[in-house]
Amino acid sequence: MANYDILIVGGGVIGLSLARELDRLGQRRIAVVERGRIGREASLAAAGMLAPNGENEEIDDFFRFCDASRKMYPEFADALLTETGVDIELDRTGALFAAFTEEDSEHLTVRFSRQTAAGISVEDLSQTETLKAEPSLSRSVRSSLFFPDDWQVENQKLLTALESYALNNGISLIENAEVVSLITNGNVAQGANTALGPIHAEVTVLAAGAWTSLIKIGETCVPVSVKPIRGQILSFAPQERYFRHLIYSRRGYLVPRADGRILIGATEEDVGFDRSSTPEAERQLTNAALEFSPTLAGLPIAAACVGFRPFGEGGQPVIGEVPGFEHLYAAAGHFRNGILLTPITAQMLAQSILQGSGGPLWEQFAGVVSPPAEKNTAA
Ligand SMILES: Cc1cc2nc3c(=O)[nH]c(=O)nc-3n(C[C@H](O)[C@H](O)[C@H](O)COP(=O)(O)OP(=O)(O)OC[C@H]3O[C@@H](n4cnc5c(N)ncnc54)[C@H](O)[C@@H]3O)c2cc1C
Repeated sequence: MANYDILIVGGGVIGLSLARELDRLGQRRIAVVERGRIGREASLAAAGMLAPNGENEEIDDFFRFCDASRKMYPEFADALLTETGVDIELDRTGALFAAFTEEDSEHLTVRFSRQTAAGISVEDLSQTETLKAEPSLSRSVRSSLFFPDDWQVENQKLLTALESYALNNGISLIENAEVVSLITNGNVAQGANTALGPIHAEVTVLAAGAWTSLIKIGETCVPVSVKPIRGQILSFAPQERYFRHLIYSRRGYLVPRADGRILIGATEEDVGFDRSSTPEAERQLTNAALEFSPTLAGLPIAAACVGFRPFGEGGQPVIGEVPGFEHLYAAAGHFRNGILLTPITAQMLAQSILQGSGGPLWEQFAGVVSPPAEKNTAA
């Protein structure tokens, strides 16, 4: 098989966006090697929320990292539209965090004071204001917080755009080629052994999502600690459009798509790579849906999806050079925020690979992303 300058293992949003970024910076002879079909795992199952405010209660460096990536999305979406003609449906309507119980209201009070003190754009809406913003919400809603800076994208279209970019720009997409182990010479990575044979490369990047830790070097697994956290998510396809905002509660979230679909997510289960959809999850998510709105009662479930979020050790993404090796990098462990963190991850890692570490993003966020671990504790 051909030799490449850069071989990226894993064709999810992280691997594909890195390939694009490297190409934009002038790098050629890039390949993405994918075990199955491009973009069929966590990146497809995701809800597409770009919601650092709804997702994070703490205003810390990780929040700022997420928010910096969110701010890159308008330019990212415009560039992808120009490059590929694919509109990734960046929706900036904002998010509501709704309270349905007394405990929810207490939680929102604390959140509101913490987030306003940190200078975050947030409005405290009464019941009437909440129902004015979203008339199809349940009348039992008590109040909500409105986050104008929490957005969403259609992640399926994001995958289509990134795949089109690769196809239009000579990036090789090698499908149905599971990487079993890396090719090394001493501590220097030189590509990967795949189901279709060896692929040699100057630089190898591990971006295999929840499966990253399973790739081997000789007899041992690569020193990158990532484990799967299963997420189940339901979708409904009503005839009319009921909601405009992304809506959170403490028991789930509701994501309205431009085509009218409504996603209700999501479970968080530490059950390994079990792909089952379970009746317990269906019950939990249906209850969350009914709490949001009785109008959803009686609607058939259009789809029940399962995905494996890649959980990096300590909950942090693992981005950077793999210690103890040369020409080997990792970008994995993005857990609940991989769609949100796509542009910043691609920029930071492309910078590292092409220019060596450094640059303003690394100066600001090096502490937030774990370097790959010395020892693989997840495998
Ligand atoms: C239900 C759910 C909802 C979510 N909602 C959101 C959200 O709203 N917002 C957000 O920001 N994030 C969300 N996420 C998280 C987000 O989906 C992930 O963080 C992100 O998709 C990770 O991207 P990835 O490219 O690392 O992984 P993946 O998309 O899983 O891609 C990894 C790829 O590597 C391939 N691969 C694995 N092993 C090998 C191998 N040995 N050889 C070759 N290829 C291999 C896989 O087949 C796969 O295609 C959600 C996740 C789930 C499950």
